[in-house]
Amino acid sequence: MRVLITGGAGFIGSHLCDYFLEKGHTVIAMDNLVTGSTRNIEHLIGHERFLFIKHDVTEYIYLKGPIDAVLHLASLPSPVDYLRHPIKTLKVGALGTHKTLGFALAKGARYLLASTSEVYGDPEVHPQPESYWGHVNPVGPRGVYDESKRFAEAMTMAYHRAHGLDTRIVRIFNTYGPRMRLDDGRVVPNFIKQALLGEPLTVYDSGERTRSFCYVSDLVDGIYRLLMSDEVEPVNLGNPCEITIREFAEKVKEIAGSTSPITYITPADDRTRDDPRTRRPDISKARRILGWEPKVSLDEGLRLTVEWFREYLGLK
Ligand code: NAD
Ligand code: UDP
Repeated sequence: MRVLITGGAGFIGSHLCDYFLEKGHTVIAMDNLVTGSTRNIEHLIGHERFLFIKHDVTEYIYLKGPIDAVLHLASLPSPVDYLRHPIKTLKVGALGTHKTLGFALAKGARYLLASTSEVYGDPEVHPQPESYWGHVNPVGPRGVYDESKRFAEAMTMAYHRAHGLDTRIVRIFNTYGPRMRLDDGRVVPNFIKQALLGEPLTVYDSGERTRSFCYVSDLVDGIYRLLMSDEVEPVNLGNPCEITIREFAEKVKEIAGSTSPITYITPADDRTRDDPRTRRPDISKARRILGWEPKVSLDEGLRLTVEWFREYLGLK
């Protein structure tokens, strides 16, 4: 296959580029580098089956030659980023999804949308199955991200129904691993950096909120299986192993061998407004139709991620 991966210079996008190349496919990564970095793909520059194109996917997309699959990952998923760029976030979810869908239709390509557990908002159903419609505040600060993805899902299904486009929707739950941006504000890079630098780990509020963390290699394998399947309706991918943020801070400290203290703070900005209290994927559908489930435990994944950050920070 010759595949287009938008957001290909980002964290998950760059791992997907690696995965598709390893499977023997040709990959075109497209990214405007608003938060991504060519550092994530520099090891691929010069690869005969890899091409990077700097382009904003909210603008018209043109590529010569056939394309078999489009994977649309371009977005601003970190709360710090979408709070800083609310309009860009809405535009990439709306206009960017429209442009990439139109491009896939023109090429007769299969299309995969990277959606998110955030479509469930602050969930009233736990764990979250795909059938749950969610509990999102459309006018709150997080709404720009959540609604951009809800719109993107609706647009993807509309292209499927109206144009017969062959589409897939993956709802990704918190994923972590090497190449996360050090300053993207998400809990994994924040805690690991703080633990390695001997700074206090900043747990927001009481630390009672929960998340379920999936290692990136498990996720990309699931995305590949979904693309190759014939499932059009959304599929959750994530690791159901749920943990409070307080426990997570303890775990990061232990794995990093850190003596950093843990502090409990209430951010003065909008970072924790409408912050989901719990989140855990129901992955029965992925198990059933993709034969997929995560293999990497939180301890193992964190060890690999901490090692990567240690090297990145020049600490070894
Ligand atoms: P990331 O920020 O590392 O990657 C996103 C990439 O999109 C960046 O490289 C950015 O430069 C690029 N981008 C943004 N707007 C663009 C535009 N208009 N044109 C071209 N490129 C643009 O984020 P990530 O964690 O790798 O997330 C990838 C995808 O997975 C996103 O769609 C995100 O919503 C989804 N997702 C991620 C998680 C997670 O835990 N990491 C959870 C749920 C969903
Ligand atoms: N969080 C925290 N300290 C930090 C960063 C995040 O306590 O330094 C909390 C945040 O409030 C949320 C959870 O960790 O409850 C996960 O946050 P993240 O931004 O990683 O992802 P989210 O799941 O909210 O999109």
